[in-house]
Amino acid sequence: MADIIFLGTNGWYDSPTGSTLCVLVSTDKADIFLDCGSGFFRAHRFVDGKKPVFIILSHLHCDHISGLHVLARMPFTAGLTILVDKGARDKLQDFINHPFTFPFEDLPYTARLADLDTIGNDLPFEIRYLPLVHSDPCLGFRITIDGKTLAFCTDTGYCENAVTLADRSDLLITECSHVSGQEDSAWPHLNPESAARIAREAGAQKLVLTHFDAFRYASLEDRAAAERAAKNIFSESYASYDLMKLHL
Ligand SMILES: [Zn+2]
Repeated sequence: MADIIFLGTNGWYDSPTGSTLCVLVSTDKADIFLDCGSGFFRAHRFVDGKKPVFIILSHLHCDHISGLHVLARMPFTAGLTILVDKGARDKLQDFINHPFTFPFEDLPYTARLADLDTIGNDLPFEIRYLPLVHSDPCLGFRITIDGKTLAFCTDTGYCENAVTLADRSDLLITECSHVSGQEDSAWPHLNPESAARIAREAGAQKLVLTHFDAFRYASLEDRAAAERAAKNIFSESYASYDLMKLHL
């Protein structure tokens, strides 16, 4: 059993619709953050730090890591592990340091960076990952915990790896940067229809759209239109909003 709280649901930048992407998966064994955009600032309201905390990063675009600037605000007394692709590790280490933010040594709890490919089974959940299609290297994830499977695929254009990661999952969380019908091969992202197509082809139980581009989705009504477009292809489609909660 997991509680899922969408702490930030914008793509690109903060706007009146919300903060940039961060999803909390709270379980009995661990608190897991999927990406760490600016919505991460709300984390201390939902996490007491008595369980180990993990932050899993898809890629290093700023709307997915800017929340790391707030790490010193958090009560992560049982320790923090940030999981990242090996190729991104050194760049992230630079970001978590002067002059951008605080080094780990200055945090009031233990923190470490870990490579996804070497952390092995030293985790209270199962994780699988595959590359997605984006303008810079980016990973999608399939996480199994307490018998439930969650796929997290953002940022990406339509790709087989997203379908594979979401295969018969209980929940697929994916992005919706483009509006209905919009495509851009030079800047790969999903629209409501391509996101719903991934969920349908994967046989997922439920699809939640998030990472709504702050410029193209200026209002929550625009997100509702995306939800309607996705439901035409996959009926269990829902648009997220900041602080939306669901149970898995
Ligand atoms: Zn993004």
